[in-house]
Amino acid sequence: MEKTLVIFKPDSVARGLVGEITSRFERVGLKIVGMKMMMVSRELADKHYPASREEFINGMGGKTLENYRDLGIDPVKEFGSEDAHEIGLKIREWLVDMITAGPVIVMVLQGPHAVELVRKMVGHTLPLMSAPGTIRGDYSFDSSYLANTGKRPIKNLLHASGNTEEAQFEVDLWFTNDELMEYSRVEEEIMR
Ligand code: ADP
Repeated sequence: MEKTLVIFKPDSVARGLVGEITSRFERVGLKIVGMKMMMVSRELADKHYPASREEFINGMGGKTLENYRDLGIDPVKEFGSEDAHEIGLKIREWLVDMITAGPVIVMVLQGPHAVELVRKMVGHTLPLMSAPGTIRGDYSFDSSYLANTGKRPIKNLLHASGNTEEAQFEVDLWFTNDELMEYSRVEEEIMR
């Protein structure tokens, strides 16, 4: 049994997609055990997107470079750099600005393999590369190119914890213990 954190970023809230997306998670059998709407402080955003986590920063930069290569775009011309770390840090700044700019809904989902299952349902970071049927693939067409030429982060609707370690850190960061509920969903009996 795992818990995972999902953030409906300001773009999905503003587009009125919260209900539709939430119903997908409920339909697959994931249990909502925490949920709240809030404005995110810069302090919390900084903790959620830590500049010191090399893997995260380099990962964002790396995915951008890969996307640019696929699209035949010169990263130096468009971004002023071909260094994954430098690109990652810039994107992180945009991300903090974006997540603090409008209300978000934060949710904790629980279920067997919840972390992997939610990532699979959410799809690839870049909606352009997300398969149809995934949330990002079904509701967005954004790409690194569109985002970076607009000097903004990719609008991909959701954040979802990347692995079980990250999930534990993020659930503890966003929720107190008494904000997390315990109850049974009816199909738990059938799926035992
Ligand atoms: P994920 O959200 O799929 O776990 P990452 O942790 O790599 O992806 O990136 C965090 C967020 O940063 C993404 O969800 C997206 O909003 C933004 N992002 C990632 N790469 C880029 C990029 N090349 N340009 C703009 N924003 C990006």
